[in-house]
Amino acid sequence: MKLMEGKRVVIMGVANQRSIAWAIAQSLHEHGAELAFTYQGERLEKKVKGLVEKEMPGSLCVSCDVTSDEDIKQAFEEIGRKWDRIDGLVHAIAFAKKEDLEVPFVETSRDGYALAQDISSYSLVASANAARPLMTEGGSIITLTYMGAERVIPNYNVMGVAKAALETSVKYMAYDLGRDNIRVNAISAGPLRTLAAKGVKDFNSMLHVVEERSPLRRGIDASEVGDTALFLASRLSRGITGEVIHVDSGYNIMGM
Ligand code: NAD
Repeated sequence: MKLMEGKRVVIMGVANQRSIAWAIAQSLHEHGAELAFTYQGERLEKKVKGLVEKEMPGSLCVSCDVTSDEDIKQAFEEIGRKWDRIDGLVHAIAFAKKEDLEVPFVETSRDGYALAQDISSYSLVASANAARPLMTEGGSIITLTYMGAERVIPNYNVMGVAKAALETSVKYMAYDLGRDNIRVNAISAGPLRTLAAKGVKDFNSMLHVVEERSPLRRGIDASEVGDTALFLASRLSRGITGEVIHVDSGYNIMGM
């Protein structure tokens, strides 16, 4: 059974084939979804278009730097010219300056704090608001978070605080958009080696702790996040909104 036949989903945040957004796109594509990709401007255009043309020809590709309201507006206008409706939005975008991830959290700079919030949290709000007029038959909005929002993960620092804001934004938006049958959920993924993960100091020990101490005694695979996103995008999850689902081999339940 194909769960996403006739459904159209916008995927924000593919940088390369290791991106979590790409694993999500693969799961949705296998289940028949039509996809539109947004990428972070010219620097990534060739890479993302190449990947999409090779593996998911016929998908839309649109530039969108989420620090710009104008870019977000134009991107969804462009998608709206090609599609009369969208059924899903996947937001897999985060950024913090390396220098802000290298100092103790208490030394975070004002502009570094604001930038991490802007790109990693506010961008979900702005994108959802731009996508909303196209979600005429309801829909599913999914974002990506990490356990560093709930507990202290050394070195995750300013990004943990941005993810806490992101998770709370999920709840407020779930309330706002629920009346239009638009659901909003987050997936809290265990550590995965991606481009974004390279910015976090001592990322390897985050991976090893999960491998050693999680209930499943292993790390996760990006396809497991992809399949959870498929569930959240499909009608199977129609009663779920405002939720954070952990895909982390169960690590978040542990006390030590
Ligand atoms: P990634 O580097 O592949 O993806 C991050 C994306 O954010 C990139 O595509 C990048 O272009 C985009 N981005 C950054 N600034 C942008 C801007 N101004 N405008 C538009 N796009 C911008 O890394 P990833 O690990 O796949 O990250 C995806 C999401 O998953 C992020 O929210 C990340 O925090 C989250 N996450 C990652 C892990 C992990 O261990 N890798 C764990 C939990 C959650």
